[in-house]
Amino acid sequence: MTGLQQKMFQELESQKGLKLAHNHALSYVKQIFDRNVYPSESALKNLARFNEDLPRETGNPETILDLLNTYGGPATVATSGSRYFGFVTGSTLPITLASKSLSTVWDQAPAMHVTSPIGSKLETVVEDWLRKLFQLPESTVAGFVSGTSLANFCGLAAARFHQLSKLGWNVNEKGLNGSPRLRVVAGRQCHSTILKAISLLGFGVDHIEWVPTDDQGRIIASEIPQLDETSILILQAGNVNTGSFDDFNTICKSAQEKGAWIHIDGAFGLWAQATTNLSHLTKGMEHADSWAVDAHKTLNTPYDSGIVLCKNPEALKSALHMTGSYIITSPQRDGMFYTPEMSRRSRIIELWAALRYLGKAGVDQLVETMHHRAIQFKEELQQIAGFRVLNEVVFNQVLVRCDTDEITEKVMAHIQDQRECWVGGSAWENKKTIRISICSWATTSADVSRSVASFRKAITAVTHE
Ligand SMILES: *Cc1c(COP(=O)(O)O)cnc(C)c1O
Repeated sequence: MTGLQQKMFQELESQKGLKLAHNHALSYVKQIFDRNVYPSESALKNLARFNEDLPRETGNPETILDLLNTYGGPATVATSGSRYFGFVTGSTLPITLASKSLSTVWDQAPAMHVTSPIGSKLETVVEDWLRKLFQLPESTVAGFVSGTSLANFCGLAAARFHQLSKLGWNVNEKGLNGSPRLRVVAGRQCHSTILKAISLLGFGVDHIEWVPTDDQGRIIASEIPQLDETSILILQAGNVNTGSFDDFNTICKSAQEKGAWIHIDGAFGLWAQATTNLSHLTKGMEHADSWAVDAHKTLNTPYDSGIVLCKNPEALKSALHMTGSYIITSPQRDGMFYTPEMSRRSRIIELWAALRYLGKAGVDQLVETMHHRAIQFKEELQQIAGFRVLNEVVFNQVLVRCDTDEITEKVMAHIQDQRECWVGGSAWENKKTIRISICSWATTSADVSRSVASFRKAITAVTHE
């Protein structure tokens, strides 16, 4: 045994490192709802502590964990608290933190059943639960990936494989050089990760047939070009600014009849389908072919957790297929046939725990509460002179602006400086906006009012400068 091995065996046996990390984690959780939402100036400055050369010698766990705890923790953004409203960033359900801690120690990679029977089992169970929760066709399969960026990529890769194979072209073997041409049709307000997927898949963003959108970012159904069996139509459940949904009920059926492949980017919005009172937003989505959704946004699992769902298992598996002489397939689920990666972490454990904990009623309540808080935010902001809400708050996003771009920017900077809450900026119809995304299980109505107070303070300060 080497000295290093001996040292590490001792560390495991004493459990000191694990216990210390656990204690630091517990203190972090204890103060997450009270601390400044964004790191203080001094915490940011202290990050310089990490500017070290790679040590020459082996260190010790206490020093390393102490560095993380003392200088790392304060420089985190409190996204798992209750007043972070930036981008569309989910919090973390307590059960997911607990189950992830355990699974971190397990360190499973569910590439194949043989590499992790528990990972394979939970992926099978959750695939079935999601199919039912989202009321998708019986044949639908799921791939558990890092996020919707990759889920969009996988859905569109399945589309590419399937649409080309209908034309007698195996894209895996023959590539795109000289292939029959596919048409990609997308709304003007599609997410940037759709563009990334389109570039990665070799379609070229210059070749997208753009569909105009209305003032909420929804595709204008009557403006969709004539579709055919070479088409891939990309729709959206939850615009990243307004939270709006394309009208699947009007669009999907006829697109499907024409032989188009329909992909829905529903990173945070697809969860509307799992609710009682918001599922009108996703009506008709079951007529699509593939769907992308995040668990780490609306469902509040830890990062990173996205899901691609595909009605045609062969299309998804063929698009992502890989093989090797050492691969041991089994009658049970081998997760890597549904994802681009071979090895990946077993994010399924927290996802399973989240759904097992919440149940159908809990998911419904989680999502609907976010909507109610967004409505509250809108209503309280509308009471304050100088703020204008720009969107119909149909889901969890609230888009506001002040009288001019300059005031909007100053007000946002002022809100960010207070660190009571955190909101980011965006642009809508060529004007600067402040975007509020309610995406945490923990946001109470008191949190909303406290954050609105921060908005009030900011606009008062800026307009009295
Ligand atoms: C967040 C988001 C994405 C990208 O998802 P990641 O999980 O960040 O990869 C794609 N589309 C929409 C609409 C989003 O909100």
